Amino acid sequence: MAGKLTFTMIKPTAFKNNNSGAILKIIYEAGFIIKAMKLTRLTPAQAGAFYEVHKERPFYASLVEFMSSGPIIAASLEKDNAVEDYRTLIGATNPENAAKGTIRNLYATNLQQNAVHGSDSDENAIVESDYFFSKVEQF
Ligand code: GDP
Repeated sequence: MAGKLTFTMIKPTAFKNNNSGAILKIIYEAGFIIKAMKLTRLTPAQAGAFYEVHKERPFYASLVEFMSSGPIIAASLEKDNAVEDYRTLIGATNPENAAKGTIRNLYATNLQQNAVHGSDSDENAIVESDYFFSKVEQF
């Protein structure tokens, strides 16, 4: 059975461009409930650990630099079928391939600066939420 939790970040460029309110509105209107949320800025080490799975990829260093370049909003979201429904809501990784009206279609700058993160599995949703939020910060 699909889980109810997913995790997202509004990435530095989308935050800097004042798109956070519009993105959160889309998230609410799609039926997600916010379980935890914070404005924070990752250190390069924290961003590197979050994207550890991509360590061998050619874009890793650039991704880590970007993700630690400014504030982000981190949030844990609840909904039935959360991971899959949120991936549908945000659209493809490359905004050029993101369906019309998806968050990445509307607010991405380019492939790397693609507005938001979304968990890719129920297991990672829990790992990622716990990376950012302690038990008393998750409602
Ligand atoms: P996601 O699950 O849709 O976020 O995609 P991935 O897990 O494959 O990649 C993580 C993040 O790395 C993406 O959201 C992009 O910000 C970035 N990224 C992925 N592929 C590339 C690439 O080919 N070049 C660059 N510069 N960044 C990439």
